[in-house]
Amino acid sequence: MNRRRSRPVVVKFGGAALADVAAVAARIRSLSSDGAPLVVVVSAREGVTDRLLAACEPRATSAGIDRTLRWVRDRHPGSGVAGERHLAELERGLRSGAVGSPARTDRILAIGERLAVDWLVPALRSLGIDCVGVDAAALGLWTDGRHGGALIDLDQSRGPVRAGLGALLARGTVPIVTGFLGRGRHGEPVTLGRGGSDYSASAIAALLEARFVELMKPEASILSADPSMVSAARPIPYLTYAEAEELAEFGARVLHPMTVEPARRHGVEIRVRSMRRPDELTVVGPAAAASVGVRALTLSPTVHLFRLRFPGGRRRPGVLAELCARLAEAGVPVLQAFTSAAVVSVVVETHRSSSAGPVLGRLVEARGAHLEPAVPVVLLAAVGSGAIRELARVPPEVLAVGRGVSATRASVTIAVPVEDGQRALRALHTVLIERGPTLRRARPAVRRPFGPRPGRAPRPSPAARRRSGGKAPA
Ligand code: ASP
Ligand code: MG
Repeated sequence: MNRRRSRPVVVKFGGAALADVAAVAARIRSLSSDGAPLVVVVSAREGVTDRLLAACEPRATSAGIDRTLRWVRDRHPGSGVAGERHLAELERGLRSGAVGSPARTDRILAIGERLAVDWLVPALRSLGIDCVGVDAAALGLWTDGRHGGALIDLDQSRGPVRAGLGALLARGTVPIVTGFLGRGRHGEPVTLGRGGSDYSASAIAALLEARFVELMKPEASILSADPSMVSAARPIPYLTYAEAEELAEFGARVLHPMTVEPARRHGVEIRVRSMRRPDELTVVGPAAAASVGVRALTLSPTVHLFRLRFPGGRRRPGVLAELCARLAEAGVPVLQAFTSAAVVSVVVETHRSSSAGPVLGRLVEARGAHLEPAVPVVLLAAVGSGAIRELARVPPEVLAVGRGVSATRASVTIAVPVEDGQRALRALHTVLIERGPTLRRARPAVRRPFGPRPGRAPRPSPAARRRSGGKAPA
């Protein structure tokens, strides 16, 4: 048998992408047209997770819960006995249990994805697609059990997921699997964090050694910037795993931050496709060679920057370690740090600022250092394997308002005052993306301005290099 053909394909439909069942069916047909076994992963229908989350809150009233139950029921017509069972479970869940407990919240949220499957399976069958619903927790997609943000345990899940899905694929039926949830240590449902069905799909693809995993987005593939802020934003045809990971981490809301890891580990290509324009596609995979320039820009929500001055800082052991340890003890993640000889700036989420302030205050006191009051900033990130080389082209007016810059080969991050964020984003997009050497997939050789390696041809003259187009004109 053709081994390539027999490797499955995994496709994920998000809430908004599920709205058009005929389009979902068409995509399923097209993906299985060459005989590839297909696994479908779905998230809850659009708005359902938000609505359930609100109903989990302590301030949710009984009348509000009634409205939510009706609203959820209306969104899942024709979901049969399984749907009724889940709706009854939802009602029980919302009317009882320890309000605010993460386990209860996860039990309730998981019903969103379960109902999506209950609803989608009969709808697809009526369009002639042979499919069957699968609950990821029951299947054995094991997690570390951390409610609200669990990690999938690939090693423990491999056996049950391959056996369970493999049996269905062998029968020629399409498994429709709940995204966003997995199995906790005692079999309870545990969710993977918002947007987690991307992560479910890439983990399942990795476990099945799929040919690729396709993530269907209702509007666009991955764009060079948020189109609501940058009208010239354009689709990105190719991203390396590392670039996609940076993008997801910077909160571009295109991919769940854990999506890339399982795919990278197992060499599975990720395809992010627009449902509206199926030819629009971003492929995420291993780079053939060093890629060039900046591929995308992101702008974070407002965050808080603390500036600490440690006189003689570099000579004092343990300053950074202590800073991070104290913040970690207070449950505050450091989103970004900027350092110079005597100054360390750390960036934390706005809602953690009131925990971080006193911790840092005590630290500077003990260390004889100085702390400035937190300032609200946004983090502007330019992502691309050649990002650091593009730093020189960042417009001076953007650098002038910067409160900190950090650069690695994968990204350049600039903290700017909130009011300058969108203007800076547009300026960077014009220079680095619209006029930049981006979107080339790869370049065979990287110039080495710091001297040729022994045994190599001598470096061409600067004029020759200009002629060969080493850098695009600005
Ligand atoms: N339904 C979940 C959420 O809204 C998971 C997902 O959409 O991927 O976060
Ligand atoms: Mg969703």
